Amino acid sequence: MPKVTVRIPTPLRSFAAGEKERAIDAPTVGAAIRSLCDVHPGLRRHLFGADDRLRNFVSVFLNDDDIRNHEREATPLTDGDVVAIVPAIAGGAPAARRNRSARSTRTAARPVEPPMGVDELRRYSRHLLLPEVGLAGQRKLRGARVLIVGAGGLGSPAALYLAAAGVGTIGLVDFDAVDASNLQRQVLYATSDVGRPKLAAAAERLEGLNPGVRVVRHEHRLDRSNALEIVKAYDVVMDGTDNFPTRYLVNDASVLTGVPNVYGSIYRFEGQVSVFDARRGPCYRCLYPEPPPPDLVPSCAEAGVLGVLPGVVGILQATEALKILLGVGEPLVGRLLLYDALAMRFRELTLRKDPRCVLCSPHATQKGLIDYPAFCGVPAPGEATERDVPEILPEELRAALASNEPPLLVDVREPEERAISRIAGSVDIPNAEIAEHVDDLTRARSIVLFCRSGSRSADAARTLIELGFSNVRSLKGGINAWVTTVDRSMPVY
Ligand SMILES: [Zn+2]
Repeated sequence: MPKVTVRIPTPLRSFAAGEKERAIDAPTVGAAIRSLCDVHPGLRRHLFGADDRLRNFVSVFLNDDDIRNHEREATPLTDGDVVAIVPAIAGGAPAARRNRSARSTRTAARPVEPPMGVDELRRYSRHLLLPEVGLAGQRKLRGARVLIVGAGGLGSPAALYLAAAGVGTIGLVDFDAVDASNLQRQVLYATSDVGRPKLAAAAERLEGLNPGVRVVRHEHRLDRSNALEIVKAYDVVMDGTDNFPTRYLVNDASVLTGVPNVYGSIYRFEGQVSVFDARRGPCYRCLYPEPPPPDLVPSCAEAGVLGVLPGVVGILQATEALKILLGVGEPLVGRLLLYDALAMRFRELTLRKDPRCVLCSPHATQKGLIDYPAFCGVPAPGEATERDVPEILPEELRAALASNEPPLLVDVREPEERAISRIAGSVDIPNAEIAEHVDDLTRARSIVLFCRSGSRSADAARTLIELGFSNVRSLKGGINAWVTTVDRSMPVY
């Protein structure tokens, strides 16, 4: 029986007792993953669907090649093989080869580029010394347009370097205000910007860095009604989002408009980078045909992220964008770069176009943009995130806790979060372990679950309701809402 190593990705390690990898004896890839699930049963629902087949949003690589290019689960193993599980995580072509009609219209609409002034020659002298850039390349950059979707952890470093490099037009899509918790990684913003609209602060910073750059503010949510119109006005789109609906939207708009998509995403200490250019390589849907269901993937806000990680990933994205604009080097097309900051290791996986991709294959069935919140199983923007779970407001909880029959209060957050804020009298059961504590919970007359903002506690409540509990509620808005309405002595995070 071949002896192989199965690598377990960070998002799934909490369901595998923290293991990073495991040595397994198995004849095929499918058998190896199934025996991993025998050791860690909590992994099974993340990897296999109800039909007992590998889920669509889980990609599996054998020695850095996708098993979909081989015999999928039946792919045979030999001694020393490495099987890597790569789940989708949320949170982030040389322009000259663009299709001719789009290019010529655009060129015709553009004014003739004026020659470089003395100030510009001085500013970009280190670029001008590079034969790969030179005066011609620098003028290309000045005429280039990059759209950055999300002015957050990935967008910040990317926008700064693209502005410094002299990319003439930088479009930013974001509608948030700067929050104090952004400053740990979103280096576009200063402490004095807290509370200001992100794009106002970003434009000021970028134009201060390089007055030759024009910042176009798209101060609204990118959605199916505006995405094609916005994306097609740019040469490259950079995906700096932190959620699956926008990630699929950016991918689809990129494929439909022919504008290459420089993709980046981050999770705790790990990042992914690739260039999706469907005209000569795979798209994001080729890698992940479907998003994971919302309750299987914690958001970046809940999972935490090392502040410097989006810096590294965002700068890799900026590097790819510059190469595409200049038409130099080898773009990261058909390759997925994985970065593990804790191990300080980069790995590269080979991606191929899915011959059955609904969007970019010759048999594509999807011809336009779709309803992304519905596709990803999340509520539309503005809707409550806590579907079909009874909720309790912070004020009501305070009254209930002071009554003769207080509910059992369960904190489903992680230990690190409890060091930031707590509600007195709560018991600690992390979300991933809730089902193991059913026996303790059945004794309670009523239960209130809470997390940071109400999403994990709604998941936990849903799990308990499925297990037959009828007396469960989730604290609406989580402990952060409790802090802002009941107990202001603790921080919101
Ligand atoms: Zn595709």
